[in-house]
Amino acid sequence: MTLPGSPHLAYRGPQLFVEGRSLNGLASEFGTPLYVYSKAAMLDALAAYQRALSGRDHLVCYAVKANSNLAVLQVFAQAGCGFDIVSSGELHRVLAAGGKPEKVVFSGIGKTRAEMRHALEVGVLCFNVESESELEVLSGVATELGRVARVSLRVNPDVDAGTHPYISTGLKGNKFGIAHERAVATYRRAAGLSGLEVVGIDCHIGSQITDTTPYLDALDRVLDLVEAVEAQGVPIHHLDLGGGLGITYTDEVPPSAEVLVRQLLARIDGRGHGHRKVVFEPGRSLVGNAGVLVTEVLYLKPGEQKNFCIVDAAMNDLARPAMYEAYMGIVPCARRDMPATRLDVVGPVCESGDWLGRDRDLAVVPGDHVAVLSAGAYGMSMASNYNSRGRAAEVLVSGEQAWLVREREDASALFKGEHLIT
Ligand SMILES: *Cc1c(COP(=O)(O)O)cnc(C)c1O
Repeated sequence: MTLPGSPHLAYRGPQLFVEGRSLNGLASEFGTPLYVYSKAAMLDALAAYQRALSGRDHLVCYAVKANSNLAVLQVFAQAGCGFDIVSSGELHRVLAAGGKPEKVVFSGIGKTRAEMRHALEVGVLCFNVESESELEVLSGVATELGRVARVSLRVNPDVDAGTHPYISTGLKGNKFGIAHERAVATYRRAAGLSGLEVVGIDCHIGSQITDTTPYLDALDRVLDLVEAVEAQGVPIHHLDLGGGLGITYTDEVPPSAEVLVRQLLARIDGRGHGHRKVVFEPGRSLVGNAGVLVTEVLYLKPGEQKNFCIVDAAMNDLARPAMYEAYMGIVPCARRDMPATRLDVVGPVCESGDWLGRDRDLAVVPGDHVAVLSAGAYGMSMASNYNSRGRAAEVLVSGEQAWLVREREDASALFKGEHLIT
């Protein structure tokens, strides 16, 4: 039986496997909580974008914030991927993993001068600029360094991505991007500033989008702007359509990357923009369904209104349920021949918001392992040390091979850099 999202995660008999390794086996070897990623699932997800884009000048820039483990970045770098970064720290990670700076786009509304200098010194492909003040600061920093910053303006197309309000970014009321009405004037300003070279246009309307319509609407708004900007004599070379494609957590049916990209390319060609380079910044859709979080059942706690299944992973390991009330599938790592009980799966953290799943039917006993599904994106990368819990270990699987790609944090890692007063 295969589970939602990835053919690389499946039961063989009673045991749940990621590629050639059983999750129970990995849990015994590396301990829990444990993030496990499938290399083949990541490469399959990337290949869907690459198939649709083949024969066209393009760049797929993996959005590092979805999962920034060095080995994950290494897999994508080796597959020819570029990267979308939002901080200097992410740029350090990309370079340490073998990523090429000339394939990096730098997004984010709050880049500091130090971050701009770092990115200019290593020579990133492009800055996705989100405001007029940022444009002026970037011009100053580049001029001081004697470098040219290639820029793309992130425009806010004012379309509703139909997703959770916290991960919707393309509406007028959001903090992101340059308002559609201001865009032409801002491009004119950019073209007149020293140290800058206008190379593209960018938009990113949100995350976990499960429909092609908002993408096509945003694209139309972006192409209108490209035409208006070029009419002012400012040429635009590339179209960066951001990331945001959703994945299946439960019963969502997002378009495949291949279908989405083909539809967008057809619209681009239909409107006479087929000669432009196309950039995408997918995060979740490249890694989300490639990872699971394995956790051990510590206690079962029956109650009058609810039964609780207390596990050793918590909101500090996986914030999505607590933060967005996100649904994530939870299944046993080995199936038992016994009736299921309806349970809330919760962690040990001292907050009622610390839950991983509500009202789940599970047949488990203490000591069993369960896997939280589709945890490859915005899982480990959002983990914290809340309650002074060391962060989980991470393992990357390819076929029968498993590499420990991040060690579990121990006590010395927990308070590294802290000092007692004298
Ligand atoms: C977060 C983000 C992405 C990736 O979003 P996903 O939903 O993970 O695909 C891409 N571009 C920008 C600017 C982002 O902020």
